[in-house]
Amino acid sequence: MTSTIAEISINRPLFQSFDYLAPSDVQVGQRVVIPYGRGNQTLVGVITGLVDESKFSRLKHVQQVLDPEPVFSTQQLALARWIANYYQQALGEVLFAMLPNRLRQDNSSEPNQSTYLKLCQHENVPGSKQKRLLDLLAESDGQQLSMSEVRLNGFTTQTINSLIKRACIERLKLDDEPSVWHGEQQEKLTPSREQATVLNDIKLEQPGCHLLYGVTGSGKTEVYLQLIERCLAAGKQALVLIPEIGLTPQTVRRFQQRFARPIAVLHSGLSDSERLNQWLFVKHNKVDIVLGTRSAVFAPLANLGLVIVDEEHDTSYKQQDGIRYQARDVAIKRAFDDGIPVLLGSATPSLESLNNAWSGKFHWHQLTERTGRAQIPNIEMVDMRHAQLTAGLAERTLKRMQQHLADGNQVMVFLNRRGWAPSVMCQSCGWLADCPNCDARLVLHQHSSQLKCHHCGWQHPKPQHCPSCQSPELVGLGLGTEKQTDILEQQFANTPIIRIDRDTANQPGGIAKLLADVPEKGPALIVGTQMLAKGHHIPNITLVVVTDGDAGFWGVDYRASERMAQLLTQVAGRSGRGERHGEVLVQSRYPEHPFFSQLINFGYLGSARHWLNERQQALLPPYHSHAIIRCDAPHDWQAAQVLRQLVAQLTEAQVNIRVLGPVPATMAKRAKLYRQLLHFHAESRSELNRWLRYCRTLLQNMDTKQASWRIDVDPIDVG
Ligand code: ADP
Ligand code: ZN
Ligand code: ZN
Repeated sequence: MTSTIAEISINRPLFQSFDYLAPSDVQVGQRVVIPYGRGNQTLVGVITGLVDESKFSRLKHVQQVLDPEPVFSTQQLALARWIANYYQQALGEVLFAMLPNRLRQDNSSEPNQSTYLKLCQHENVPGSKQKRLLDLLAESDGQQLSMSEVRLNGFTTQTINSLIKRACIERLKLDDEPSVWHGEQQEKLTPSREQATVLNDIKLEQPGCHLLYGVTGSGKTEVYLQLIERCLAAGKQALVLIPEIGLTPQTVRRFQQRFARPIAVLHSGLSDSERLNQWLFVKHNKVDIVLGTRSAVFAPLANLGLVIVDEEHDTSYKQQDGIRYQARDVAIKRAFDDGIPVLLGSATPSLESLNNAWSGKFHWHQLTERTGRAQIPNIEMVDMRHAQLTAGLAERTLKRMQQHLADGNQVMVFLNRRGWAPSVMCQSCGWLADCPNCDARLVLHQHSSQLKCHHCGWQHPKPQHCPSCQSPELVGLGLGTEKQTDILEQQFANTPIIRIDRDTANQPGGIAKLLADVPEKGPALIVGTQMLAKGHHIPNITLVVVTDGDAGFWGVDYRASERMAQLLTQVAGRSGRGERHGEVLVQSRYPEHPFFSQLINFGYLGSARHWLNERQQALLPPYHSHAIIRCDAPHDWQAAQVLRQLVAQLTEAQVNIRVLGPVPATMAKRAKLYRQLLHFHAESRSELNRWLRYCRTLLQNMDTKQASWRIDVDPIDVG
């Protein structure tokens, strides 16, 4: 058989491809197994080019071609090249990041089977969870559901097994097909005047980027749904990105109920085989809509007509390790390449997007009113300085909570610290429990009686005596969600309390189960962290309490105000979404701080204009582009030395963009590694790109010893 020369990229941080001899019928975008390195070692690679000649002699042969058809289209390869260049990442690593885990190894890309649950008899069962699962199966297509959907709906193995034992349901293996909702359909709503304007102004035939500013509860999702409907009617597919913690059964259900069409759902909770199955549905053109979190932006849709990025400001769109890309920006690039429109939606758009909209680069749309009777709640400050605090709550706050609960409403208490207490101190000698691996305090988790580091995961049973002076007087300082919940349980003994944070959400059933625990009627307290701020529609909340409004202020980060305002606005948006008017109380020691008065008087947009001015004057993003080179090493001087050496070489090459550093990261040590940063600010993105590329080649040729480095373009974590 004749052969050809294939350029192959592998999953390593190497900025080059490798030439191999391949059968002459191979195609670009196929995966292959190649011998690599010494001995019998092999690797999976992706063919990124076919050439007639190689500058190397004695090429090795490809061992096996894994895919009957390419797993990457030419457009996807082009997108991967753009990402590699823009974010200064290795093409091979980008390509592998775009694939589901299973295909990063030498697994087949043929369709496979997956596990389903099927209803056998719908009888009365004792448990309410069990009953809910039977009801769900009863109203599903063919009275069966894949395990991934069952799990997305918050059901645990325990519930499933008990129903199997009772012979109410059975487990099946089936050739996987995307599920289609056959339960009750939801008709489209008659658009409000504002919604109609937006729907009119967005033309699916015209490429372009649209920013939809819509206050929480203003009906953005309805706009998405009606645009998708138009897209599907035109015979095209739609891609919808949703932040990590916004993708709940409620959201998925809303899309399923509107369209009796196959939908792929891609999220981080899927097992590897479920993820592969969903990906294969998309690849084999079996779905019309892809709904997913960050990496769904790579879904191999061949006939895309519309891209939507919900909550576009959300930081979970930025991948923070491995391939550092910003999914929102990749989505914009993808839509641009396909010549189709992309819609970004948010109640608190990023300053980047606002600037793009206000400067005319994006089309600007707004929904300023809540639908139906719901009104935007007012934010009211509570001065904590002279207040008697109980569980971190001022008397005035507690009174108001009592009122709302007595009226049969639900109250949300927002506190962005999980655990019992954020630090532990010895009362005799002042010893503080620090993480041995990080520059950070250990957090006390009372229920598990552990001290935990929230940065590196280190944990240790809580000591009985101070390790320094042996005194038994160890106390927790400050307030976390665990302690807050415990104290509220005493204060409001007859009210159900649901705690929603990473610790409770990591238990079987996840966030879906916690949300299901919120009673449909009557009073309840919901205590939680940032996880609560997004997308979850709990209609009976009429009061939101932010216990520590000052918690976001002490960051050195130039994005601190933006983040804080987004969080407060989103949290406030959880209040009064149903029939009744909502209130928001923000406790603070600085209630007169201009940050609050600005946000209250001028709203998020008014504040954003102000911060944009500040950013412009300070030559910060979005006006100038920013990148960071991060360097980690077991010793502080090693990390700094690499970066200092780099700066010297840049100076020699007469670098013409601003370079600041090296400076230690805000948390100078993390997971046993010391961290140093070098900041780059440039007026022109192409200059920034050019210098980063230069830095990359310098670093690649430098003996960095034990230090490792990485480039972060458009960083969101700037400390
Ligand atoms: P957002 O996504 O902006 O937070 P949603 O799309 O979730 O808002 O809408 C909030 C509520 O208003 C939902 O219960 C939704 O069903 C309802 N809603 C949206 N648009 C309309 C409309 N045109 N007529 C009636 N109700 C609507
Ligand atoms: Zn002590
Ligand atoms: Zn640590």
